[in-house]
Amino acid sequence: MGKTAHDENYALKVVLHAHPHFYRPSDKSGRLYKKLFPIPSLRDIVENAFENAIGICALSSCHTPTSGMDDRFFSYMSQAQYLTNDFNINYNKKEGWARFERNRKIRKDIEKMQLSSIIILHTQEVRTLYDGETADINVIGLEDLVPHSQDTEKTISDVSSNGGFSIVCHPSDVVDSLPLEKTIKLVKEEKVFFEEFNALSAGELNNQRYEESVLDGVKGISVSDAHHYQDTDISYILCNHNLLEDFSIKYLEEKLKKKDYEIFPKSMPLIKVFNYHILPILMSKFHL
Ligand SMILES: [Zn+2]
Ligand SMILES: [Zn+2]
Repeated sequence: MGKTAHDENYALKVVLHAHPHFYRPSDKSGRLYKKLFPIPSLRDIVENAFENAIGICALSSCHTPTSGMDDRFFSYMSQAQYLTNDFNINYNKKEGWARFERNRKIRKDIEKMQLSSIIILHTQEVRTLYDGETADINVIGLEDLVPHSQDTEKTISDVSSNGGFSIVCHPSDVVDSLPLEKTIKLVKEEKVFFEEFNALSAGELNNQRYEESVLDGVKGISVSDAHHYQDTDISYILCNHNLLEDFSIKYLEEKLKKKDYEIFPKSMPLIKVFNYHILPILMSKFHL
């Protein structure tokens, strides 16, 4: 892939699409799977972000007609009360993010971490409808949950009139995705951003997205789309540190608009795709 030489201005890891686990904390199903791979707590997610220096760490929910509306960000934020001994927490409920700042009393092993604070960012992967097919859109910056099964372009314009923005997920993928051509058209109209690289997509698909983007003079982002919190930063973008210091949704949107970032594209190892994405689906089909 066309990655340029590393620029020191871009040293902050930013992950904009990653699910901490296949299941949400309120899920009643998947009991055996959850025994094999337990659902992480908010503490696990926050400590993992500090340990891996993930400055902006997505906590992505997923709204679809089959799984319904996903309230996991709020379930996780209700665990914040258990972290107040170790972190100062600044919850911006309206924009859907929280800053966790290490306080002085923190454990020795976290003390040597590079970042003094990290942001947990709610992103909502919303299944929309485009041309009779389903298409996933990642919504950032809203307090309210965004309904699934609405028209794609209506969803995008509703989100932006409410102060958020949308990123087209894995364009032209096998299922649940907007065609790449349509995606690039919307990007050029400055209505959306898009995933040029998704770590779960097939290699040739990512190559095709990259080549089309270069041809059309647009730039996308790279994301892990992980389904396990320890894989959150398999793939990400790199931004300037001032994004973390002065974080707001508008500032993040501005960075994307100005293409003020580098991509870090890296595919998800197949064993992880199997364990965290395929296996829970198989086990739920057999009611295990
Ligand atoms: Zn998706
Ligand atoms: Zn996803």
